[in-house]
Amino acid sequence: MNYTVQQIAEITRAKVIGDTTTVVKNIAFDSRIIYSTKNTAFIAINTKKNSGEKFVESAIDRGITVIIAEHYDPKFINITWIIVENAITFLQNLAKYHFEHSHLKSIGITGSNGKTILKEWLYQCLWNEYSTVKSPKSFNSQIGLPLSLLQINTNHQLGIFEAGISQPFEMQNLEEIFHPKIGLLTHIGTAHSANFKSEEELIDEKIQLFKRSEIIIYNGDNSLTENKIQQLYSGRKLISYGFKESNDVYIKNTISKEEDLIIAYHNEEIRLPVHQRDEATLTNVLALFTVLKVLHIDNTKIVDKINALKAVEMRLEAIEGIKNNIIVNDSFNLDLDSLKTALQFLKEYNKPKKSLVLTDIIGVNSKSEELYEEVSELVNEQNFDSVFLIGEEITQFKKFFNGATFTFNDTYELIDSKYLTDIENQVILLKGARKFEIEKIKDLLELRKHDTVLEINLNAILHNINYHKSLLRPETKMMAMVKANAYGLGSYEVSEFLQHHHIDYLGVAYADEGVELRKKGITTPIVVMNPEQHSYDAIIQYNLEPEIYSVRVLDLFYKAVQKSGNDTKYPIHIKLETGMHRLGFKEHELDYLYESLKDKNLKVQSIFSHLSSSDVPEEKEFTVQQLEKFRKNSEYLIKNLGYQPLRHILNSSGITNYTDNQYDMVRIGIGMLGESSNIEIQKQLHSCVSFKTVISQISLVEKGESVGYSRKYKADHLTKIATIPVGYADGIPRLIGNSVGSVGIHKILAPIVGNICMDMMMINVDHITGVKEGDIVTVFNSKPTLKEFAEYCKTITYEVLTSISPRVKRIYIKD
Ligand SMILES: *Cc1c(COP(=O)(O)O)cnc(C)c1O
Repeated sequence: MNYTVQQIAEITRAKVIGDTTTVVKNIAFDSRIIYSTKNTAFIAINTKKNSGEKFVESAIDRGITVIIAEHYDPKFINITWIIVENAITFLQNLAKYHFEHSHLKSIGITGSNGKTILKEWLYQCLWNEYSTVKSPKSFNSQIGLPLSLLQINTNHQLGIFEAGISQPFEMQNLEEIFHPKIGLLTHIGTAHSANFKSEEELIDEKIQLFKRSEIIIYNGDNSLTENKIQQLYSGRKLISYGFKESNDVYIKNTISKEEDLIIAYHNEEIRLPVHQRDEATLTNVLALFTVLKVLHIDNTKIVDKINALKAVEMRLEAIEGIKNNIIVNDSFNLDLDSLKTALQFLKEYNKPKKSLVLTDIIGVNSKSEELYEEVSELVNEQNFDSVFLIGEEITQFKKFFNGATFTFNDTYELIDSKYLTDIENQVILLKGARKFEIEKIKDLLELRKHDTVLEINLNAILHNINYHKSLLRPETKMMAMVKANAYGLGSYEVSEFLQHHHIDYLGVAYADEGVELRKKGITTPIVVMNPEQHSYDAIIQYNLEPEIYSVRVLDLFYKAVQKSGNDTKYPIHIKLETGMHRLGFKEHELDYLYESLKDKNLKVQSIFSHLSSSDVPEEKEFTVQQLEKFRKNSEYLIKNLGYQPLRHILNSSGITNYTDNQYDMVRIGIGMLGESSNIEIQKQLHSCVSFKTVISQISLVEKGESVGYSRKYKADHLTKIATIPVGYADGIPRLIGNSVGSVGIHKILAPIVGNICMDMMMINVDHITGVKEGDIVTVFNSKPTLKEFAEYCKTITYEVLTSISPRVKRIYIKD
């Protein structure tokens, strides 16, 4: 889009305060995700869960000068305000106008499954036929769809957009804004129909999108869909696809691995090579094929395009590099969207310096000059210390890039230049189209190359946090426990991520853990649960907040505060003993505590306690007693203090089992890692840790021969045994050898045979067909799960995680 503030106000009947001539080309709705401040307006969207207006200030801090909001705030000067009645309605009205004035050919995709993958595939097949715009990621909601439509500009010829709904009447609303010429209905499943009375109601709602479509392509395997579409839209051009032979488009031959598919399309037969033969992929291929036919792409081209499809995968990995660098690698695909995502990801690292390796952009059909100007704007915003450009096209536009910029014809030229190996203590982003093979650079810069890794999925952690938040009142704060290196996963990486997602507090066990986080740039408040006397000075110097659990600690800590010359009220957290009998003030000490606090320059930031058995249903009575004691004693203390500190007592299982006692804050630990003792809750959580390795060698062991130390395993027939490079020094307890534990290969369990060695162990793979050296082995994640693995070890998941040796490389994944 490209409108002046004045035009926007006229289109949407909004009020303007400030300069009306400013041009707006982009609208940002998340103050953390502002790719470029130039010609960008920030819209404050208020939802049930969150007030977008809270983030106006941070958007302005980032350099935004146009704000769209429901309320005007005169506090900010030199800002243009577009004042609207309702921000979501505003966005929809503007998008509707923009779409209706755009004149592009449009494809609208809806359905329960496959929307995003089909959109991406269509884009991959069509970008070089038409100048194409598409929804970013899976932006398909009441907010996401309007934002997607606003990306249309005057040179676009084709738009591919997703429309998704979760409630009745939503599609009618989306159709008001967006009425595609070609409608595509993917598979309808019953999975998301919780808000709909029946499947029928869901179908009725979804097909509303096609009210004004000329051509409707739909999955006809579902007879209810088939009937509904035929009834409602009989006058249109209707094309059904699916596995049933009654469809207009279906697969003629039986699906075997070797043969090409033969697709029937009206009176034609087309042979298609498709490698993956699962049902979901084939359904999507049929839909894609149908759209391409409808757009009159010729058959040989269709075959080539489908052959060249890439998996739709947007995965960024961050790995430790040599010389204290962090390498953020996305060498998989490169278009503007994925570049934006990667630049966003980079902001989450607090390293003072950063570099970028960027190749020619492939898969975008706009004029080079304009394209690279846009790319350079995005890049320049980030103030990279060095930018390395690779490829014939991008290097021609070196002049657009600020700062130290170097150009290379290909990846090898950059590798040979030795520039990269001189970089120290930076974040290095590798972003390249596949053909440039920039993963070679990753290999060069990677610190330790190990086949054994602990992979941590940060998005899963966020999901788990949000799930727990959804059980709580919106105003309840959350402290994330990142003690013991965040339960072994890496306290800095996890804390950095959580800080970015506005966690209220972090909790560590010892001061040095907090100091390390501060040194690396974490500014979120941090509570130290075990403040040792020798660490008081460090606590004060690094602005950490101690748990105070006795009058002795109170007095000693206060002496340190006085000595430091600190003259503001220093924040502390009072721990009450309610039944755990670990640390804390007992009931009879409260008066004495209160007297000792009286004239001290300290602020009780919070009062808290800890439940010993919130995960044990049989101990409910005891837990209720603990909660009652906490209520009583904390109230007593607050009455005497005369002010209201935060109160908190629930840990993860407390959140799920004793939600009513959330007070002002909760402390999440294992729950954010996706583990719960409650089976129903467990189903809602995502596992976030995967301990993986690969098979080093496979041997055939003859009957009677033995495996490993002390000959504890002897083959009773010719047996296939694999050796994997993890052992007790990596944190696998030796006691799970000799068939007590198993690992997973191709999702099949393989028992550990013989004694576990220090760095290796052997497993029985006799029953696994097709197993070969180099195959991935799952120590735990899904098969076996972390819980099952903990059972082999006769312990709890907490101990399994914290026992994994530091030598196992941690890799952080974001989807
Ligand atoms: C570790 C810890 C938690 C978190 O416990 P989970 O069971 O992992 O949720 C909460 N509070 C305190 C004081 C802790 O030490």
